[in-house]
Amino acid sequence: MMRQQIAAANWKMNLTYAQAEDLLDNLLQDSHTFQPHQSVVLAVPFPYLSLAKSKVTGKANFFVAAQNCYTQKSGAYTGETSAEMLQSMGIEFVIIGHSERREYFNETNAILAEKVNMALTYSLTPIFCCGEPLQIREAGTQNSYVAAQLEESLFQLSVEQLKKIVIAYEPIWAIGTGKTATADQAQEMHAHLRKTLADQYGQDVADTISILYGGSVKGSNAKDIFSRPDVDGGLVGGASLVAADFGQIIDALK
Ligand code: PEP
Repeated sequence: MMRQQIAAANWKMNLTYAQAEDLLDNLLQDSHTFQPHQSVVLAVPFPYLSLAKSKVTGKANFFVAAQNCYTQKSGAYTGETSAEMLQSMGIEFVIIGHSERREYFNETNAILAEKVNMALTYSLTPIFCCGEPLQIREAGTQNSYVAAQLEESLFQLSVEQLKKIVIAYEPIWAIGTGKTATADQAQEMHAHLRKTLADQYGQDVADTISILYGGSVKGSNAKDIFSRPDVDGGLVGGASLVAADFGQIIDALK
């Protein structure tokens, strides 16, 4: 079985409504030949979810994601968005634990475990982000650092739940810096992550989990990175804001 291969766009806090509409129109007008195991996921800002959802309706292989959701089901949490709200509007995916959320909004591995649980309760596919900062990479302890992120945020899940997760490995030193991990560095970490999952859940389960690479993926380097056996596509920030660039990244899926 071919694992699901995913090109995911993370728009972050960018674009006006009109710009978002243009980008969606440009992205969707290009014709890509998709195989059934290939998907495009567009993580747009909350106010544009409805717009994105209506634009992708009828486009097989295209899905919409939120960039975050809250730990609680509902209630007096002004400004937050629940997993149930996302489900109720037909959203299929949610990014959980992006490094910017961890850094600027103090999201810990324990908080992220709650968010993953909440997303799964409402049938959203979490795109769970992990990845080490530069000083950890320089100290050479990235493998244990990233394994701990999985253990503390995902290992509460049953086998059936874990199978619904997508993982994105995003080394922080490569995000928005133009400094991409080499395809070898990505493959090495992805293999380590898969082994970490296999040790806990079994090899058969680990072999079904899509692991995306994120960090300065561009049209020019996507093919090389995605070609590695344990790399199942990418989570893309900057280059996802330009239709032609993201189109090239979609076409680099294996
Ligand atoms: C990201 O933030 O998910 C990301 C990978 O950003 P960029 O592609 O801009 O490095």
